[in-house]
Amino acid sequence: AKRAGKNKHCFYRPEMLAQLNRTAEIATLLKRLEPARELWLAFQPRMHLDGRVLAGAEVLLRWRTPDGEEIPPQEFIPVAEETGQILRLGYWVMEQACQTLSRWPAQATPLVLSINLSARQLFDELLVERIEKLRQRYGLSPAQLEFEITESSAMRDMDDAVRVLGRLRALGYGLSLDDFGTGFSSLSHLRSLPVDTVKIDRSFIRDIEHDTHDRVLVASIIELASNLGLRVLAEGVETTGQLQLLESLGCDDVQGYLVARPLAAERFETEVLGSWPH
Ligand code: C2E
Ligand code: CA
Ligand code: CA
Ligand code: CA
Repeated sequence: AKRAGKNKHCFYRPEMLAQLNRTAEIATLLKRLEPARELWLAFQPRMHLDGRVLAGAEVLLRWRTPDGEEIPPQEFIPVAEETGQILRLGYWVMEQACQTLSRWPAQATPLVLSINLSARQLFDELLVERIEKLRQRYGLSPAQLEFEITESSAMRDMDDAVRVLGRLRALGYGLSLDDFGTGFSSLSHLRSLPVDTVKIDRSFIRDIEHDTHDRVLVASIIELASNLGLRVLAEGVETTGQLQLLESLGCDDVQGYLVARPLAAERFETEVLGSWPH
């Protein structure tokens, strides 16, 4: 007998099914992925508002499949996290980032590259050892690298996260709390996680010029973080109005399309390293 009537037990709407298929397809493509042929890194500059000098860059992973399709990280990172492939991808990112950085000419103030770490990476037992090995292999100092974590990834096991981050910090690596404000109980995490920078999520910056509520929130985050001795970076800055407002609120650094889009290494070298004050 047919158990489900037409409108009963219909848990999956067509778009949900499409989503499941897409996830399965990405998982398959990830299994076959050849990093050297399909992956590359983009570098998005961070700017110190003080003096408008280059502060460093965030490393963002890019993927073009053998079919020539570019799959955005928002789509494939969660799948890679789910399947565990993120560990392999993540170490590839770190190695490429270290290699690229070692190639760049020494700056008066060392350029800092920020690398995103997802939950599985953060809780990988070999994380700290492998970071140290890569750093030494490429002759870098810990201060040249920063790791970005989110509250939600740290929350999986707060004690463990605090322990791992504490080790990285003791070694001299920079640590930032990404997407700040979007998680649960952000304020209590700010107290317990040993980070030195807070990255205010783009969603708070977007309407900052017109939305009083958002402006008050951002002002409070900046004040609070500053009082805790943390640097504050605003993400997703797209207009000069936002930039001026953030500056007047005492924000330290900005990142966003207004300053520059994420750029491939060669373009970063010519358009940023070659011409920017730093
Ligand atoms: P995220 O860490 O929050 O990175 C910032 C995202 O905002 C990037 O998207 C960047 O291209 C985008 N963005 C920067 N400035 C602006 C702006 O002014 N306006 C707008 N609308 N967007 C801006 P992307 O590169 O697509 O990366 C998306 C997410 O994927 C990242 O968010 C991060 O969570 C994840 N991701 C990217 N690369 C890696 C990686 O190597 N490892 C891990 N674990 N995650 C990564
Ligand atoms: Ca990030
Ligand atoms: Ca972010
Ligand atoms: Ca994010």
